[in-house]
Amino acid sequence: MPTLGVDLVEDIRALKRERNAVILAHNYQVKEIQELADFVGDSLGLSYQAAKTDAEVIAFCGVHFMAETAKIVNPNKTVVLPDLDAGCSLSESCPADKLEAYLKEHAEKNYYVIAYINCSAGVKALSDVIVTSGNAVKIVNTAPKDRNILFVPDQNLGAWVTEKTGRKMDLWRGNCYVHVEFTRQAIERIHAEWPDAPVVAHPECTAAVRMLADEVCSTERMITFCKEHPAKAFVIVTESGMLHRLRREIPGKEFIAGPTDKCACADCRFMKMNTLEKLHDALLNLQPEIIIPESIRARAELPIRRMLELSA
Ligand code: SF4
Repeated sequence: MPTLGVDLVEDIRALKRERNAVILAHNYQVKEIQELADFVGDSLGLSYQAAKTDAEVIAFCGVHFMAETAKIVNPNKTVVLPDLDAGCSLSESCPADKLEAYLKEHAEKNYYVIAYINCSAGVKALSDVIVTSGNAVKIVNTAPKDRNILFVPDQNLGAWVTEKTGRKMDLWRGNCYVHVEFTRQAIERIHAEWPDAPVVAHPECTAAVRMLADEVCSTERMITFCKEHPAKAFVIVTESGMLHRLRREIPGKEFIAGPTDKCACADCRFMKMNTLEKLHDALLNLQPEIIIPESIRARAELPIRRMLELSA
């Protein structure tokens, strides 16, 4: 079995072959991991990759709920997450027991629960359908017209989807601690500095920031938008890892980090917990492994499969 050597990347590649593993990485991962991964994408792309892989091991470089999603659709595969503490403030803002209590308390509403994929397996198990920022508009448009909708856990994404679809929804009051750091004042300042650069923002940003954006979209759509748009420079208002993917895939253009009031470095501390060393150890030891009780996994799989069908 290979040991940690001078060339960590080569060691990881050898382990990957030995384990018959696939490395899936989110757009917000550090550049070393993005460059080594078999697939880099947003939550939707990663869900499709996880659902179709025939590898025996999935090394998921992202945060906990993403690795859980991979496990939910692959109960017989080993799914490892390089750092088990890589959580998500948004997912944590909607604990499954609180959601369950809320649904019981408001049983008269007979809610159709739409959950953004950034939530735990327990929350997915209580939901009717899952969405990502890339397919939320499409899926909300298919929700039964005679049902009240509860959208969890991101109130900003939910508000954006309501603007786009006209569909009234009750919103859980959760948010992503990274995206709410972007402010109207900070975006106005960078726009004054780069007046010709379109502002491209993620829908997890607040309404005040979204209103200043030329395009509001998922990280995957950001790639197409910036490729097709004639501008030579863009202000990117999302987690900083996205800049690496944009620069790699669109080398002739300039990408400016959307600033917060404090800095121009919107890093998600959870996403950045994964490192090459931890990825190496995860492949070597097949730990930390994602384990989900079968009763929750089976219930959580239904709304994920519904999403994959509806957004195909
Ligand atoms: S960027 Fe926000 S939503 Fe994404 S993993 Fe980090 S805390 Fe969660």
